[in-house]
Amino acid sequence: MSRFFRKTNVLLFLTLEGAFLVILCVIAFVYNFNWETMFERYQREQLTVNAYKMMDDMRNEQLTSGPFTEDQTMWLSRRATLYGILIRYSEKKGGPPWFDMFVRVPDQKQMVVQEFAVVAKGETAGLLEAGYLRSLSELDPNVVAYRRTMRSRSEWLFGIVAAVSVFFSYFAAKLLSRHLLKLQETAVKIRFGNRSVFAPVKGPEEVRQLALTLNDLSRELKRQEDWRHQLMEDLTHELRTPLTSILSQLEAMIDGIYEMNQEYLEQIYEELIRLSRLMNDMERLSEAEAARFTINPRRSNIVRLVERVFRNFQSMAKGKGVKLEFYNPNVPCYAEVDRDKFVQVVANIVSNAVKYTHEGGRIVLGVNYSEDATIVFCSDTGIGIGPEDLPYVFNRLYRADKSRSRFSGGVGLGLSIAKALVEAHDGRIEVESELGQGSVFRVIIPNRYKKDERGEAS
Ligand code: ADP
Repeated sequence: MSRFFRKTNVLLFLTLEGAFLVILCVIAFVYNFNWETMFERYQREQLTVNAYKMMDDMRNEQLTSGPFTEDQTMWLSRRATLYGILIRYSEKKGGPPWFDMFVRVPDQKQMVVQEFAVVAKGETAGLLEAGYLRSLSELDPNVVAYRRTMRSRSEWLFGIVAAVSVFFSYFAAKLLSRHLLKLQETAVKIRFGNRSVFAPVKGPEEVRQLALTLNDLSRELKRQEDWRHQLMEDLTHELRTPLTSILSQLEAMIDGIYEMNQEYLEQIYEELIRLSRLMNDMERLSEAEAARFTINPRRSNIVRLVERVFRNFQSMAKGKGVKLEFYNPNVPCYAEVDRDKFVQVVANIVSNAVKYTHEGGRIVLGVNYSEDATIVFCSDTGIGIGPEDLPYVFNRLYRADKSRSRFSGGVGLGLSIAKALVEAHDGRIEVESELGQGSVFRVIIPNRYKKDERGEAS
C-alpha cells in the first residue's frame, strides 16, 4: 500500500489535486463571503425602505399612538407581514410597547433591528423598531428561493470544477511520470545486458538530464565490455604462441627428442621473460587506463620534465650509436600534468625512438607551445611505420612488424599506455611517419593557463 503512495504519478496526482482543492475552497469562501455581505446590505436597505412605507401607512391610518384595539393590532400585523418585516412600536425607547411582534421571536439576537422616530403633525409620536430575522424562514420567499438557487448553483459549480480538476491532475500526473517510466524501462533493459537501447531525451529538464546520463552510462558500459572482450582476445592470442612454443619444446625434451642443452633452455627462458614482461605491461596498461580517476595533476614546467627524460636516455642512445638531441624552447612551458605519469609517456616514446632507429641515426626530443597547448615532440630518422600500420600503432598489443618487434623485445603495449595516460590529461597523442624515413610523435597537452602567465613561476 505504502509502495502505491510512493509512486511518482500517485504523488503528483495527490499534490496537484490537493493544490486544486485548496484554491477552489479559497475561491468558494471569498465568493460566498462577498455574496453574503452584499445580500446583507441589500436586506438592510430593504428594511429601511419598508420601515418608511410602514410609517407612511400608519400615518395615513392615524395609528401613530397607542394603545391599539384588536382590529388595529391585526392591521399593523398584516401590514408588517406584507412588507416582510417585524415591528415593535412604543412611546419611547425602553417604554412598554403598544404593539410588539418581537415577542414571537425566541432568540432576539438573531434579529437585525433599526429604530425610527414616527413623526405625526410635527411631533414625535413614538419609536418604531423594525427588524428582520437573519434566519431564512422569516424572509421574503422570493429571496429565500433566490438564495437557495444561488447556493445549489455554487455547489454544482464546485462539484464540476472539482471533477475537472481530478481529470486534469490525473492526466498531468500521467504525462509527467510517463517519461520517468520510460527511463525506468530503459534502465531495466540495460541492467539485463541490452546495450543498444537508449532512453528518449524528453520531458522536464531534470528528466532529460537523467536520460542523457543513463545513455552515457549505457555507452560507457558497452565501451568497457568491448574493451574487456577485446583484451581477452588479445591476451589469449598473445599468450598462446609463446606458451605453445614452450610446451612443445619441453615435451620434446621430456620425450627425449631434444636433448636438454643450454641453447634450448635459453630459448625457453627468453620466452618466459617475454611473457612476464607482457604481464607487467598489461598491469601498467590497466593502471594507465584507470589513470583518469587517479592522476594527480600539478602545474609543472614541461621543459624540465622532458629534459629529465632526455638525460636518462642519453647513455642508452650513445650505446646504440644514435644521436639524441634536445630542443629547448628557452621559455618555461607550463601545463597541468601528473609528473610521474607524464615522464612515463615521454619515456615510452623516446625508448621506441631509440629502439627503432639504426646506428648513426638521429633523434630530436623537444618542447613547443601554442596559444592553447603545450606540445612535446620526438622525431627520429628510424625505420618508420608503413601507412597500413600507422592507424593502429596506438592499439593494444599492436606491433607494426611482428618479427622485428619481437626481436626488439616489444610487446606492443608502450604506445597504448602512453595514449591512455595522455588522454587521462585531456590531451592527445599523434604520429606522422614514413617507412624507411623516420617518425615524429607529438604529445599535446591543453593549457589551463593563459599565455601571459607563461614563465611567471618555475
Ligand atoms: P612495442 O613494445 O612493440 O614497441 P609500442 O606500443 O610501443 O609497442 O609500439 C607499437 C608499434 O609501433 C611497435 O611495435 C612499432 O612497430 C611501432 N613503433 C612505435 N614507435 C616507433 C618508432 N619510433 N619508429 C618506428 N616504429 C615505431
